[in-house]
Amino acid sequence: MPQFALVIDLNVCVGCHACAVNCKEWNTQASFGPLSDYDPYGREPHGVWFNRVLTYETGEFPHTQVFHLPKSCLHCQDAPCVPVCPTGASYKREQDGIVLVNYDDCIGCKLCSWNCPYGCREFDEIDKVMKKCTLCIDRIYDETLPPEHRKPACVLTCPAKARFFGDIEDPQSEAYRAIKERNAFVLLPGAETRPANHYLPKRETRIDLSEFEDRLLRSDNPLFAEILRRSRGSGVFGDTSEEVM
Ligand code: SF4
Ligand code: SF4
Ligand code: SF4
Repeated sequence: MPQFALVIDLNVCVGCHACAVNCKEWNTQASFGPLSDYDPYGREPHGVWFNRVLTYETGEFPHTQVFHLPKSCLHCQDAPCVPVCPTGASYKREQDGIVLVNYDDCIGCKLCSWNCPYGCREFDEIDKVMKKCTLCIDRIYDETLPPEHRKPACVLTCPAKARFFGDIEDPQSEAYRAIKERNAFVLLPGAETRPANHYLPKRETRIDLSEFEDRLLRSDNPLFAEILRRSRGSGVFGDTSEEVM
């Protein structure tokens, strides 16, 4: 059975939020919107986002690592949000494994969001229905679009090419190959939901920091090498310039 999904490379993601913004832009104007905003110009603007980018810092200064975790509905293969829905509004499609909500049947009881271990459902306070990522189902089958554009908006817009889309059961898809070849993992495997979306791990990067004129600079920064080159002979940085050249 096909199972469409996203595979996101955490080693490449730079946390720019372009995926989240383009998701909001596309879905607000398309079939599964709007993605309502509340108090957009007020002190505490918030609203509905199908895709959110979380940012974490680990380690202790100066040896810290920052990583970004874009997160949207994972289209779980054993989706716990589906059987709890009292009206059948929440369902998983057989033909591609995408989990959807039929807004016409949703009574806004929020049982599905209580049963999602990932916090990936978004209740629209204005429309009073539950919404969530659809993997841009209204783009990926649209034959009026060129084949290369029949992908989720987040995948098309990612400037770092950190996002792959495809059938994770099809050995020909780039999503399948990325999972098999690059140690992909899923969120909360113990929840036994079998998320379809996968992540490629962030690789540990060894960073050497050097102090230069009261600033900490990464030794592998090419600009740093240039600064050292220019300061050669000034005596400011001593012998270490030879290591970087
Ligand atoms: S991530 Fe949450 S909303 Fe999406 S299918 Fe899994 S349980 Fe359901
Ligand atoms: S909020 Fe809507 S989709 Fe979710 S369980 Fe209730 S009726 Fe079903
Ligand atoms: S658009 Fe790409 S690089 Fe930017 S936050 Fe999203 S996944 Fe990461």
